[in-house]
Amino acid sequence: MLEVLLPWQEKVLHKLRHAHELRPMHAQLWITPVAYGTAALIQNWLLGLMCHGTATVQPCGQCEDCRWVIAHTHPDIFWLSARESEDQIRIDAVRELCAFVDRTSARHGRRAVVVEQAHRLNEHAANALLKSLEEPGLETLFVLLTDRPVGVMPTIRSRCGVYHLPAPERSEVLDWLRGRFDRSDSQLIQAMAYGRSMPEQTELILEKNWLSQIEGLWTGMKQLAHKKTQPSVVVAGCKELWQESLLADVLMQWTEDLIRTNSQIDGSFLQHPELYPDYTQMTVRQSRAVEQIWGIWRSLVRVRDDLNGNIQPALCYERILSNFSALF
Ligand SMILES: [Zn+2]
Repeated sequence: MLEVLLPWQEKVLHKLRHAHELRPMHAQLWITPVAYGTAALIQNWLLGLMCHGTATVQPCGQCEDCRWVIAHTHPDIFWLSARESEDQIRIDAVRELCAFVDRTSARHGRRAVVVEQAHRLNEHAANALLKSLEEPGLETLFVLLTDRPVGVMPTIRSRCGVYHLPAPERSEVLDWLRGRFDRSDSQLIQAMAYGRSMPEQTELILEKNWLSQIEGLWTGMKQLAHKKTQPSVVVAGCKELWQESLLADVLMQWTEDLIRTNSQIDGSFLQHPELYPDYTQMTVRQSRAVEQIWGIWRSLVRVRDDLNGNIQPALCYERILSNFSALF
């Protein structure tokens, strides 16, 4: 599928290409914001690398190489990513990569290796990859992608040119959403707040009409604070959100706001200032309240990070919401 670049990614791609022309690095680590729309960026970068069409400046999108890049079947590109249902990239996958690097090009000489979510490389896999990074084949370029740079092994990182890709400005995201969704600005801004202004997440919230589910969830949270409902009822009522891991993030945003409110930080720093009256009613009077809310926040981070593993999200969320209810 041809991935369309998001408006602000044009200049990012231009900078990446320019940096590579000035100082070619055979291995690059792209550190992106979360939910950044990396698929479009990497595809367009690969098109520029592989196109053998007649166009001089932009890739043509029509030649055999371009069509293979778009279909993810180019014989000179190797994609390394965690297998579905596994949270780590394992050594057997890296061995396939090493075999690819040892072969010669099937086309014009240039080859590329893309490592998605490089923070998922486990130690053995990372060590195996190091060898290829140190002795890449002729004209073989590595691009490692991550939105969690602390998880990337320092040994891997030190062998790469590191590029921090900037997050789009809020105004750029809002303009883009206005062109895509027939909604009021206040709805778009609300969706952006829940999507942390990240384009993919915000787009998903709007496409799936999740704002009303999120509002329903907030009603459930208020009822939990008054012991008027059960955690299992609240979790069952927003199944779509927890299947997409959005639930963890939305709950994290609210707990972050509650920590601020409970610490009596100025309400203008809240992510959802419209909920401030509700937050103040949820002020917890126990002396260790803020500490306990931090505990809930940490549990949410663990659930969010483990969603690709074999945990049972519904049960985890129910336990977290029981802890929330017990605060009051
Ligand atoms: Zn082409």
